[in-house]
Amino acid sequence: MAAGLLVVLSGPSGVGKGTVCERLRLYRPSLQISLSMTTRPPRPGELAGRNYDFTTPARFKELISRDAFLEWAVVYGHYYGTPREAVEKNLALGRELLLEIDVQGALQVRRRMAEAVLIFLAPPSMEALCERITGRATEEAVHIKRRLQAAQQEMAAYHHYDYLVVNDQVEKAAASINAIIEAEKCRISRGVKPPGWGGEKKGDLSFD
Ligand code: 5GP
Repeated sequence: MAAGLLVVLSGPSGVGKGTVCERLRLYRPSLQISLSMTTRPPRPGELAGRNYDFTTPARFKELISRDAFLEWAVVYGHYYGTPREAVEKNLALGRELLLEIDVQGALQVRRRMAEAVLIFLAPPSMEALCERITGRATEEAVHIKRRLQAAQQEMAAYHHYDYLVVNDQVEKAAASINAIIEAEKCRISRGVKPPGWGGEKKGDLSFD
């Protein structure tokens, strides 16, 4: 069975990663979205096991010491991490798996899994991003300020990624990410071969 495809999607807070991911799943129903673990308390409407695996700092630190995370980071004062076992299992089953994680985590994935595809989702403008962050009813003023500062820092990391997608329209952004995944699945360096091809050398053309 072909090895799966690991896709990492990052972008500043408020850029619309969640909405784009939802739209992307309509294109690719078999796409798995990794369930992160976090020590952040659930927001109203969030469900354990669906949005995050919510846990305590003590448990999170214990899992770090056991090397149970593919990557982990402290974001806005809370721990967030991707459980390693689920990633390895999905990839061994040949599945496409998407991690929606911050920039620090994405760079750790790049170091550990060079074949991962890193996509940066950018806002159409910094003004639009500020409006999105400021308009989030679930956030307190102090948190909004922190997210605005972090957004600037995260934007500066875009050049570490393989692809940049601008979220000016959710539909278009999801279509672009879908096209990136399709193209990556055709990459010969990933080990794809023509159907029925056994790898025999005889009959090779000489291009000398
Ligand atoms: P939120 O608390 O708004 O759900 O997420 C805050 C930030 O944490 C977002 O940038 C999100 O992408 C990031 N994040 C979510 N899960 C993970 C994870 O497992 N690892 C890392 N490094 N970042 C994560």
